Amino acid sequence: MAKCPKCNKNVYFAEKVTSLGKDWHRPCLKCEKCGKTLNPGSHAEHDGKPYCNNPCYTALFGPGGFGRGGTESHKY
Ligand SMILES: [Zn+2]
Ligand SMILES: [Zn+2]
Repeated sequence: MAKCPKCNKNVYFAEKVTSLGKDWHRPCLKCEKCGKTLNPGSHAEHDGKPYCNNPCYTALFGPGGFGRGGTESHKY
């Protein structure tokens, strides 16, 4: 029985969605940052955690975004 990577509980077939190669509860597959519910296969991922493509992933990890911890700044 697969365990949901978000809540660590068993995922039964009826409530299962598969994304990032793992099985999730439907309500557990949501953006780590804003909590928006995500569609399997059409969202971003970082460190095995789901994020929405916009705005969260782009803002956090995308090119030109912030949060990379680098020293490079404003290169427009
Ligand atoms: Zn869950
Ligand atoms: Zn988000």
